Amino acid sequence: MKARESCGVVGIYGVPDAAVKVYYALYALQHRGQESAGIVASDGERVRSKKDLGLVRDAISRADLAHLPGHIATGHVRYSTTGAKRVQNIQPLVIEYARALVAVAHNGNLVNARTLRHELGERGAIFQTSTDSELIVHLMAGSRIADVKECLTESLRKLSGAFSFVIMTQDKLFGVRDPQGFRPLCIGKFKDGWAIVSETCALDLIGADFVREIEPGEIVCADSDGLSSWRFADEPRPKRAHCIFEHVYFARPDSYVFGDSVHMVRVGLGKNLAREHPAGADVVMPLPDSGNSVALGYSRESGIPFDLGIIRNHYVGRTFIMPGQTDRVEDVNLKLNVVKESVRGKSVVLVEDSIVRGTTLKAKLGMVRRAGAKEIHIRISCPPICFPCYYGIDFPTKKELVAGQRSVDEVRKFLGADSLGYLSEEGLLAAVSGPPEDYCVACFTGRYPVACEAGMEDKLALESRVVS
Ligand code: SF4
Repeated sequence: MKARESCGVVGIYGVPDAAVKVYYALYALQHRGQESAGIVASDGERVRSKKDLGLVRDAISRADLAHLPGHIATGHVRYSTTGAKRVQNIQPLVIEYARALVAVAHNGNLVNARTLRHELGERGAIFQTSTDSELIVHLMAGSRIADVKECLTESLRKLSGAFSFVIMTQDKLFGVRDPQGFRPLCIGKFKDGWAIVSETCALDLIGADFVREIEPGEIVCADSDGLSSWRFADEPRPKRAHCIFEHVYFARPDSYVFGDSVHMVRVGLGKNLAREHPAGADVVMPLPDSGNSVALGYSRESGIPFDLGIIRNHYVGRTFIMPGQTDRVEDVNLKLNVVKESVRGKSVVLVEDSIVRGTTLKAKLGMVRRAGAKEIHIRISCPPICFPCYYGIDFPTKKELVAGQRSVDEVRKFLGADSLGYLSEEGLLAAVSGPPEDYCVACFTGRYPVACEAGMEDKLALESRVVS
C-alpha cells in the first residue's frame, strides 16, 4: 500500500461558470484524493454545492454543473487523514454563521485540533463533521470582529500544523498557507479572473497562467477590488517545512512544487541514488508510475539501459481495492503485469519511490522473480520511513511501517531482494534547489518541525481504521 495524500484544493474567482473550471482542475488533482469530491459555487448571492463519495467523475456529473452557476467556486478532492470517510465530512464544508456563509477546502492536518475542539465545545460550538477543517469556521463564528478579512486573519493565528486552505464567502475567495508552508498552494491568472490550486498541473488544464506560490503565512484574497495579500503569521518568519514527500511521491511530475519541477527533482533523485547505490545490472526499470522519472535519472547516471518491464493497467479503479493485508497481492496482480522478455535471465534494478508497509513491493518483486529475473536490486528514492506523519499524509504507525523496527538488511530479507539501497537524507535534499533546512523530513528522522498535541499518534491510528 502506498502512502496516501490528504487532499487537493481549488478556488476560482471572476470567471463565468467558475464551477466548470473547478471541475476540470479537480480532474488534474485527482491523484491527491480519491475518496470524495465536491464543488461549491456562488453567483454573489446564492451558494450552491454538489458533493459525493468517489472519484470526480462519479461524484459530480456534467449535468450537476448546470446547477452550480456563478463567478466564484471552490472544490476539493479528499483522502481522509482525519475524520472518518463519511458523507458529512466531504469538502468543501459549507457553514453559515451570524455574519457570513463560508465554504472551506483544506489540504493538510492540524496538530492542535483536539485542544481547539475542546475549547470551542466548552463555549457551545456544535460540530457538523469530525474533520479538523471545520475548526476555522467555528473560530471565525466565535470572533467579535465583523470584517471577514480581519476575522479570518485573527482565526488563522490560532491554528497549528499543516494547512493550505481555499476559503470562499458569497463574494470573496481566499487562499491561505500555513507559516511553515508544508503543503503547496499557488496562484494562477485568467484574463479577468484568478485561480488558486494545490498544484500547477491544474492551472495548465484550465488555461490559467502561473503567477506564483502563496507564501507560507500569507493570505491572498480575490474580490471585486482585484487580488490583495497580507500576512497572518508572526514575525520573525518561522522556519519553513515544505513536505519533501510532495517531490518524492505525491505531486504530479508535470507540476512545479516549492519552486522546482517535480519531474526534474525526481530525475535528480535517480542520479543521486545511482551514485550512492550502484548496481552491476543489465537493466533499470521503474515501478510505475512514480518511479518513472527516478529510474530515468538512475539509468542516465549509471549508464545501465532503461526499459519498461512492468506495465500498469490504468483502468483498475479503487472499486477493486479491498481492505486488509491479504488482498494486496491480488490487488497488485490486477494493476500490474511484467513484460517477460524484459526481465527473463537478467539482473534488474527496480526503482521505487518509497516503502511504507512493504507488502505491496514484496508482491511486485515476486511478480518480477516469477517472470524469470536472475537478480533483483531494489533502489528507493528516499530514506527509510520510520515515523508517522502528523501533517496530512496517511502513513501507518511506526509498528506497521516495514522500516519502523527493522534494519535495512532485515527489510531486504523481508522483500526477498538481492540488494536494497535507500537514498540518504543528504542525497534527497541535494535534488531540490531550496536550502535543505526549508524541508520537513520528519518521517525519516523523527525530528518534527511543529510540535503536536498529546495523543496525536493514537488519534490518527484510530481514525485510519474507521470504515464508514
Ligand atoms: Fe511530509 Fe514526511 Fe514531513 Fe509528513 S513527516 S510532512 S510526509 S516530510
